[in-house]
Amino acid sequence: MAYKISEECISCGACESECPVGAISAGDDKYVIDADACVDCGACAGVCPVSAPNAE
Ligand code: SF4
Ligand code: SF4
Repeated sequence: MAYKISEECISCGACESECPVGAISAGDDKYVIDADACVDCGACAGVCPVSAPNAE
């Protein structure tokens, strides 16, 4: 399991520095999470203004 960022992402960048394992980076049209690095802590979802990161 890993969090995934939906198309709702507005690329504000707020979540990137919150991730304890550096799993979030800017993608082509939205931010993306490296599923292999994500430890399911939920910190990204907590800071996102549009609730784009979701557990899948
Ligand atoms: Fe990083 Fe935690 Fe979000 Fe996974 S759930 S991408 S570990 S902040
Ligand atoms: Fe996208 Fe939300 Fe991260 Fe901002 S905090 S870059 S809107 S996922």
